[in-house]
Amino acid sequence: MKYINNIFTIEKSSLTKIIKKFETPIFCYSEKKIIENINNFKNSFKSFSPIICFSTKSNSNLKILNLIKRNGLGADVVSKGELMIALKAGINSKKIVFSGVGKTRPELIYAIDKNILLINSESKSEILEIESIAKSKNKKVDIGIRLNPNTDAQTIKQISTGKKENKFGVNEKTFIEISKYVKSSKFLNLKCLSVHIGSQILDYKPYQKMLNVLDKLIKKTKLNFEYIDLGGGMGIDYNKDNKKFNYRKYNQIIKNFLKKYNSKIIFEPGRSIIGDTAILISKIIYIKENSKKDFIIVDAAMNDFMRPALYGAEHKIIPLKKTNKMINKIYDFVGPICETTDKFLTTNKFQKLNEKDYIIICDVGAYGSSLASNYNIRPKPAEILIKGTKINIIKKRQKLQDII
Ligand SMILES: *Cc1c(COP(=O)(O)O)cnc(C)c1O
Repeated sequence: MKYINNIFTIEKSSLTKIIKKFETPIFCYSEKKIIENINNFKNSFKSFSPIICFSTKSNSNLKILNLIKRNGLGADVVSKGELMIALKAGINSKKIVFSGVGKTRPELIYAIDKNILLINSESKSEILEIESIAKSKNKKVDIGIRLNPNTDAQTIKQISTGKKENKFGVNEKTFIEISKYVKSSKFLNLKCLSVHIGSQILDYKPYQKMLNVLDKLIKKTKLNFEYIDLGGGMGIDYNKDNKKFNYRKYNQIIKNFLKKYNSKIIFEPGRSIIGDTAILISKIIYIKENSKKDFIIVDAAMNDFMRPALYGAEHKIIPLKKTNKMINKIYDFVGPICETTDKFLTTNKFQKLNEKDYIIICDVGAYGSSLASNYNIRPKPAEILIKGTKINIIKKRQKLQDII
């Protein structure tokens, strides 16, 4: 993805071609980039060949999931709907893990009937629910228990999940209590210790701390786990300031850990696979001039792409056509939705913009389309997958009639 003759281009498709053919806002993915990310991820950990379960909540487009499946990944799901779509994408049930704090009985029944790899349980009550279903079906169900390792992931607080005040997983004491119970059950198989400490983690040190916690716990309990599920969370370079996650270091500390324990590692990456593979194209509707700053009112909004409004996340905005006529002026890029938080970014240096120009919001592949909503009765955008010069529509723009 780069500018060619000042026009932003994905693989061999210039975006001027795309805006002639399609309405905006529109999500555009690069197939090549997705495959490249999957291969890089696999290569980073090839010495212990982990099971890689793509986090379906980061992007749940059926065609994307199918592409990911064809490149060898499984899925991490957090609802019956995600499990259904992962299966529909062709992902083998023995490559699917199910996480989440509030799985309902019907969801658990469905997962048990589909014989998935693991149900990663997050409470004693849930364990009892799984056991009662397993008993009624006279089955033995493979279980993981999610530990809350009380580790600060040093990421934005809204996407931190591994501290004791977060709702996820169980503390060490409960973990030990539950694991004893599961061991003694005729209907449950304790197969996995799972953790997931948060998202957009750029430093390997929180993972080091997390592994130390696991190490101590395993030593203390003398439990044997066929699988250790380390979750996802590896961050990407949203700010383009070359702060990249150190995969080499992470690989090394896991290899050291595996010298002591003979377990299969599971990963659940989302953002690191799909985050930087897509952009959102949007058109400027109006420019509202103001004494201190100009409001650039675009046709994308928080319902299409929610991360800035939801977490204060910053995503780079760049022009579709570069003019290089830079001006020092404050631009507030906002959407049409009736909420003050419907704002993407403030910049103080940008090329001079005009009404009807197109802009690009960068790195929207993860937690982009999967978080889109119909707020303000706005249809969800179309999604296209680019492969060289080929453009495939992988989701049609919703029709207003269908929503209404
Ligand atoms: C969201 C989530 C992930 C994926 O996190 P990324 O930061 O996108 O890699 C993995 N595991 C669980 C349990 C999750 O909830």
